[in-house]
Amino acid sequence: VDLPIHEAVLGRAAEFGAAPALIDGTDGTTLTYEQVDRFHRRVAAALAEAGVAKGDVLALHSPNTVAFPLAFYAATRAGASVTTVHPLATAEEFAKQLGDARARWIVTVSPLLDTARRAAALAGGVQEIFVCDSAPGHRSLIDMLASTAPEPRVAVDPAEDVAALPYSSGTTGIPKGVMLTHRQIATNLAQLHPLMPAAPGDRVLAVLPFFHIYGLTALMNAPLRQGATVVVLPRFDLEQFLAAIQNHRITGLYVAPPIILALAKHPLVAEYDLSSLKYIVSAAAPLDAKLAAACSERLGLPPVGQAYGMTELSPGTHVVPLDAMREAPPGTVGKLIAGTEMRIVSLDDPGKDLGPGESGEILIRGPQVMKGYLGRPEATAAMIDGDGWLHTGDVGHVDEGGWLFVVDRVKELIKYKGFQVAPAELEALLLTHPAIGDAAVIGAHDQDGNEVPHAYVVRQPHAAGLSENEIMLYVAERVAPYKRIRRVTFIDGVPRAASGKILRRELRDRS
Ligand code: ATP
Ligand code: MG
Repeated sequence: VDLPIHEAVLGRAAEFGAAPALIDGTDGTTLTYEQVDRFHRRVAAALAEAGVAKGDVLALHSPNTVAFPLAFYAATRAGASVTTVHPLATAEEFAKQLGDARARWIVTVSPLLDTARRAAALAGGVQEIFVCDSAPGHRSLIDMLASTAPEPRVAVDPAEDVAALPYSSGTTGIPKGVMLTHRQIATNLAQLHPLMPAAPGDRVLAVLPFFHIYGLTALMNAPLRQGATVVVLPRFDLEQFLAAIQNHRITGLYVAPPIILALAKHPLVAEYDLSSLKYIVSAAAPLDAKLAAACSERLGLPPVGQAYGMTELSPGTHVVPLDAMREAPPGTVGKLIAGTEMRIVSLDDPGKDLGPGESGEILIRGPQVMKGYLGRPEATAAMIDGDGWLHTGDVGHVDEGGWLFVVDRVKELIKYKGFQVAPAELEALLLTHPAIGDAAVIGAHDQDGNEVPHAYVVRQPHAAGLSENEIMLYVAERVAPYKRIRRVTFIDGVPRAASGKILRRELRDRS
C-alpha cells in the first residue's frame, strides 16, 4: 500500500497485457492494459514537459471516457494532485473549485472547452488547458502519446502527498475539497479488494461518474487494479445502460439507489437480456430492503449487496462481501472492513457508546480517514476529533452479527414532537405504492411551529388521479402515528446529486 496511486492501480498492467482494460460503451473504442500502461506514461512525460510538477493541482473535467483514467494516472505520475470536476458544472461553479483548489492545469474535452475557458478566466492562476480529444490551439492527450520526453522521475511520499482532491457531493452544504493521500486511497483499495474481488474476464459498467469518489474507486481504481474490464458510459440513460449490459455481457454493477429503482420498476428492463449479470452493489444513499429485493428477484440475482462510505473515508468502511450476499441480513450496508474501527455513540450524549440494536452516530477511525478538508481547518477539526475519530454525521446501528444498518443522516432526521423520523424510511415506504414513481421527504413546519414530515411525490405516468389524501392515508396505515406524512406536494422530478443522493436542501429552498 505504500505505493503512489498509479503504481498501486497499474502495477500489474503489463502482466494483464492484451486484455481489454477500458471499452467505450458508445462506440466500442478499446484500450488494452498494455496500452493503458504505455499511454499514461507517455502522457505523464508530456505533462511534465509542459510544466506539470510535483505539488501542482490538475483539474480533470470530463464525463466518463476511456481517456479519463489515462489523464488521472498520468497527472499523478507527473506529481500532481487531481481534483475531479463535475462535467455539468457551470463556469462559475468550476471557477470556484479551481480557486479553492488553486489548480494550475485543466484537462477537459472539446465539448466542455468553452466552460473550462470561462472558468479559467474567472478563477485566474490556470497555466494551460489540455484536451483529451482534440481542439485547435490546445495540446491534446492524443498528441501527447507521440511525446519523446523522458518519463518524469518524481519522488512521491505516499503518506503525505495528496493524490486526489475530490469534492464531497454537497448534499448538506457546499461541496468541500477532500485531501486524500496516495496511501489513504491505496490502503482502502487493499482493504476492499478481498471482499469485492474482480478478475480478468469480469466486466463492470462505469455508469456512475468517475469524478465522484464512488465511481473513481469502484469503477476505475478497483477493477483496473485487478485486471477486469471497465465499460464506460458518459451518463445514465436507461436504454443505453440496459443495452450496454446486454451487448457487453456485463458481469457486475456498482450503482446508486435510483438505478435500483429503475431496475426494479421500469417496464423497459424486461426488453433486454441481462442474464450476464452476477451481482449488483448499491452505495451512496439509503437503499430500502424491499426495493432491493424487488430488483434482485426481478433479475433473478443474489440479493443486492451494499457498501457504505464517504468522500472523507477514501471512501469505504463497510461492504457486504460478494460471497456473503445471500447470508447478509436484508438492508444492511455491510460489515466493517479490516484495519478499521467503528463506534456508535448516543445522539443525546455523544460520550456514550451504544450496543447492538441501538441507533446513534457512526464514528470511524482508520488508515483511510482523510488528511483533511483543503483550506478548512475548522471544518476538519469539527469532523475529526483529537483521538482521530471521524464523525460521519450518519445515524446507524449494528446487529448482533456486526452488520451495520444506516438509518439516515443526523441532519436530515425530522424531529416530530420529540420523536425522530428518518426521511429515508418514509421515502422507501412511499416507493412501495404502485402509483408513485419517486419520492422525497423533508421536515416542514406546521401552523403550530412543529416540524412535520412533508412528502414530495412524483406520480407514475398513468397515475394522474393519485391524490394527496390517498398518499397520507397509505402511509398512516403502515407507520406509527408520529411518522405520518402531514403534507404532500406533487413534483415532476426529485432533485438529486450526480452520486444519486436526494438534494433535500433544494426542496427546503422551494417550500
Ligand atoms: P456533503 O458532505 O458535501 O454534504 P455528501 O455527504 O452527500 O455531501 P459524499 O461523500 O458523496 O457526500 O457522501 C457520503 C454520504 O453518503 C454518507 O455520509 C452517507 O450519508 C451516504 N451514504 C453512503 N453510502 C450509503 C449507504 N450504503 N446507505 C446510506 N447512506 C449512504
Ligand atoms: Mg458528507
